[in-house]
Amino acid sequence: MKSAKRRQFLMQSGILSAAAVIPFWQKKGFPTRSSNQQIPAILGGKSTIQANNWIKWPIWDAEKDEKLLLEVMRSGVWSRAQVVNQFEKAWADTIGTKRCLTSVNGTQALIVAINQAKLGPGDEILVTPYTFVASIQAILANGCIPVFVDVNPETFQMDTHKIEAKISKRTKAILPVHILGLPCDMIHIMAIANKHQLIVIEDTCQAPLAEINHQKVGSFGLAGCFSFQNSKNIAIGEGGAIVSNDHDFMDRCYSFHNLGLPFGIATGSINSGSFMQGTKVRFTEYQAAIGLAQLTRLESQTQTRNERAAYLSSLLKTIKGILPYQLYPSVTRAAFHLYPFRYNPAEFKGLSRAHFLQALQAEGVPCSGGYTALNTQAFIQETFESKHFKKLYSSSELKYSTYMEQNQCPLNDQLCQEAVWFTQNLLLGSKEDMELIFHSIQKIQREAEVIKKKLQP
Ligand SMILES: *Cc1c(COP(=O)(O)O)cnc(C)c1O
Repeated sequence: MKSAKRRQFLMQSGILSAAAVIPFWQKKGFPTRSSNQQIPAILGGKSTIQANNWIKWPIWDAEKDEKLLLEVMRSGVWSRAQVVNQFEKAWADTIGTKRCLTSVNGTQALIVAINQAKLGPGDEILVTPYTFVASIQAILANGCIPVFVDVNPETFQMDTHKIEAKISKRTKAILPVHILGLPCDMIHIMAIANKHQLIVIEDTCQAPLAEINHQKVGSFGLAGCFSFQNSKNIAIGEGGAIVSNDHDFMDRCYSFHNLGLPFGIATGSINSGSFMQGTKVRFTEYQAAIGLAQLTRLESQTQTRNERAAYLSSLLKTIKGILPYQLYPSVTRAAFHLYPFRYNPAEFKGLSRAHFLQALQAEGVPCSGGYTALNTQAFIQETFESKHFKKLYSSSELKYSTYMEQNQCPLNDQLCQEAVWFTQNLLLGSKEDMELIFHSIQKIQREAEVIKKKLQP
C-alpha cells in the first residue's frame, strides 16, 4: 500500500485515530493489553470502578421500613400526632438533649431557632462563609446581618482564632456550622461565647452523631438545627429538627412553629387561641415514620463512614498534592456528610481542579468541587437593598461596599478553589472501594501531564 493510501485505510478503520492516543503508555513500556487498567479512563482506558458500584442513596428497606409508614397512611392521621412525638423523643435521646422539635426542613429549623432566640433586626451573627446557603438565608430571614469569620482551610471550619476580632457592639450570636459533618472547635467557640455573652445556635444539618469529647454536636449551644433532606445522613426527603435543653425556649419554638398556639395542645385544636406571633412549619406523621426507619441505620452507618474515612485518609495522605481534612483533637467522632480534601495542581503537573474532577469522574468516582464563596453572592446585596432592610437599618449600616470590605475571607476563597468532595454514600462502600479511589487518583497523577495535554491543550 502506498503511504497516502495506507494512511487513508488506517483512518477509515479507526486504527490511526486510536494510535494518536496510544503512544504515551507504549513509550512508558506498559504492555498494551494487560495495562488497560493503567490508562486513565479519561484517555480511553478502563474505569477503575463501575459507576453503579456505589451504594445508592437514600437507602430504603421495603420489608422493614414500610410497616409503620403504611400504618400511618392507612390511619388517615397525617398531621403531626403520636408518630411525630415518637420521632422527636427518639431524636432528642439520640443527640442527648432534653427536647426536640421537628419542622418541615432544616432551613425552617434554623429560622425558628434564631427567631425564638430573640435575634432580629440590628443583631449581627458570626458565621462561616464555607457553608450551604441556608445558614445565611436563615440569618437574613430574621433581619439579622451575617458577619463572616474566615476558615481554617485544614479543618474546613470557621477559624475560631479569628472570631474575637469580628465581635462588635451589635454581635449577639455565633452560628457554628459543622460543615461537611466535621465538628467545629466547639470548646473554643463556647469559651468565646461565654466570655462575650453570645448566643450559640449550631447548624448541625450535616453532622448528626458527630461528637466532641463524646458529646454530640447540637447539644453545646442554646440549640442545634438538623436537616433530613434527601441527601443528608438521615434522609426523609424534607424535614428538620431543633434540639435544646432549654424548656422555655423549646416551648416558644413549638408555639412559633404552630401559629403561636400554646405548647402542649393537640394539633388542629385552635380554641385556646394564639398568644404570640408565629408561622406554620409542622412535620407530618409520614415524615416521622420514614425518619424512624432511617434512624435504625444511622448508628452503624456513622460507624462505617468513620472507619472508611480514616482508612481513605491514611491512603490519600501518601499522595503528594492531596491534603485530606483534619479533625480537631477534641473530636471523638465525625458525621462525614462529605469527605473533603484539598487538591494542589502543582503536584499534578498543573492539571486544573476542574480537569482532575473530570478525570476522577471518568474513573467511576463521583466527586465535586463543593461550595463557591458565599460572602460575595448576589443575594446578600439584594437583601441589603430591599425595602425591608432599609426600614430596619440606616443607610451607612447597609453600605454594601463597606460590608464587602469587612467581610473578605481570602482563605475561604482559596479553599473554594482547592476543595474536592466525595458524598457520604461512597464511605458506605467497602475497604476495597477506598483502595480503588486511591488507585484512581494515583493513576491520574501518573498521567497528569498527558491528561492535561488532552484536556487543556
Ligand atoms: C441542608 C442544610 C441546611 C438546610 O436544610 P434543609 O433541610 O435543606 O432546608 C442548612 N444548613 C446546612 C449546613 C445544610 O447542609
